[in-house]
Amino acid sequence: MKTVIHWFRRDLRVSDNTALSEAGRRAERVIPVFIFEEAFRTGPDVGAARLAFLLQSVEALRKELAELGHTLVIRCGKSEEILPELAKAAGASAVFANKRYEPYAQHRDERITSTLLNAGVGFELFKDAVVWEETEILTQAGNPYTVFTPYSKAWKAKPVPAPRPGFGIQHPASSIPHLHSDTLPASDEIGHPLTQKIPPGGERAALELLRHFLAGPVYEYGTHRDFPALDGGSSLSPHLCAGTIGIRTILAGLKKAKAKTGNAEAVKSCETFLSELIWREFYTQVLRNFPHVTQGAFRPEYNRLAWSNNQEHFAAWCAGRTGYPIVDAAMRCLNAAGTMHNRLRMVVAMFLAKDLLISWQWGERYFMRQLVDGDLAANNGGWQWSAGTGTDAAPYFRIFNPVSQAEKFDAGGKFVRRWLPELKDFPDDLIQQPWENPLLLAKSGYPHRIVLHEEQRVKCLAMFKAVKKT
Ligand SMILES: Cc1cc2nc3c(=O)[nH]c(=O)nc-3n(C[C@H](O)[C@H](O)[C@H](O)COP(=O)(O)OP(=O)(O)OC[C@H]3O[C@@H](n4cnc5c(N)ncnc54)[C@H](O)[C@@H]3O)c2cc1C
Repeated sequence: MKTVIHWFRRDLRVSDNTALSEAGRRAERVIPVFIFEEAFRTGPDVGAARLAFLLQSVEALRKELAELGHTLVIRCGKSEEILPELAKAAGASAVFANKRYEPYAQHRDERITSTLLNAGVGFELFKDAVVWEETEILTQAGNPYTVFTPYSKAWKAKPVPAPRPGFGIQHPASSIPHLHSDTLPASDEIGHPLTQKIPPGGERAALELLRHFLAGPVYEYGTHRDFPALDGGSSLSPHLCAGTIGIRTILAGLKKAKAKTGNAEAVKSCETFLSELIWREFYTQVLRNFPHVTQGAFRPEYNRLAWSNNQEHFAAWCAGRTGYPIVDAAMRCLNAAGTMHNRLRMVVAMFLAKDLLISWQWGERYFMRQLVDGDLAANNGGWQWSAGTGTDAAPYFRIFNPVSQAEKFDAGGKFVRRWLPELKDFPDDLIQQPWENPLLLAKSGYPHRIVLHEEQRVKCLAMFKAVKKT
């Protein structure tokens, strides 16, 4: 092949990038392209944090490609129109890209395949974001897995591929003078002003995070990961979502880190981290095999749940003013930083669905708009798990008590104190249930509980049982 366009989507990196690496191997000349589509700013799930992270990562990619002697062609508009036009202008015989698994992206790619074909241009898609995709790990009966543990066992039984060969200076420069580039908009220019403090985007930032995590924190991941104040996670999720790091690079690093330690607990921690990465793959294959999860419950009978959908309660949950400190601290962290600890995502999601009796879909959408790592598959999976409506979900009668969760995972309230300064005068033993000291509560300005957990628990069980009966 003489000339190939590599279309960057959620793979904003030059290393361990399957389609880019293949383009470099098979074509004489590669034209790197990024298209800022209308959906980036108008879709119902668009959020400033994710958008700003994406824009930063594209800018970092542009610089990195420039250092390698390549010009990233940036265009704003419709991929269906831009790609055939660019292919014609550059004399490209094919467009390469890495696969996406969201239903809307699948439909768009189908349309693009025929548009490009009509223009005599090939469109090749490569598996890249995950190690194993939807049909590669099936049950003995040939069906997709809907339970995590056996899926994970089957995943681990397969060999893990090495990172893809890098793309770089050895590949001939792509600049073609007549291909103009648009300027990327800033997120506030297009109606999404960034108010959250988000981490830096780009491949270098991702590789530095990975290096730091694997040099030490990974060995304590198993014991630290559940405690929000300890921040024991890798913080790689925004990068995995934007594709500023390749999954095979993480797995290769993890394998090395595991081999370096002789400590049994540290080895176990590495295995726990691997399990979390497999959850990501599990939910990606759920999304691809059961796309109806984007429209409603994985188990359709749960679409009949009679949610209360109380607007005031929802507003209090969003603003972090429910009167339950662990829920409120987590939500204020989300609103301010575009992120939330995994344990707290489960706590607030379960609280919305099972204490406030508000549809998990409202929470799912709010998360997508706020999170810097918003990912359709993982977010939907996490919400349906918490609400008890999904694959391998927490059973409906498993309802987290927000106070016992807080006392177990934030004893003394170190995390809560960080986000709820109005509770500073409460002693450690009352910080998670300030209503126990009504005088101090009144003085603090912190809200009263908007619901009573024990009462709501009973209502929630009745709501689920009503569906089960029919
Ligand atoms: C209600 C709810 C909503 C969620 N929404 C998202 C989301 O939009 N995007 C997202 O990436 N994750 C989501 N998660 C999963 C998880 O909370 C985050 O991946 C994690 O908190 C990110 O922090 P980390 O990078 O430090 O993770 P680590 O603990 O370091 O884990 C490593 C990586 O594994 C993956 N991972 C970890 N846990 C899960 C999981 N339960 N499901 C799928 N992948 C996982 C992530 O890619 C993560 O970066 C959600 C979980 C819940 C309960």
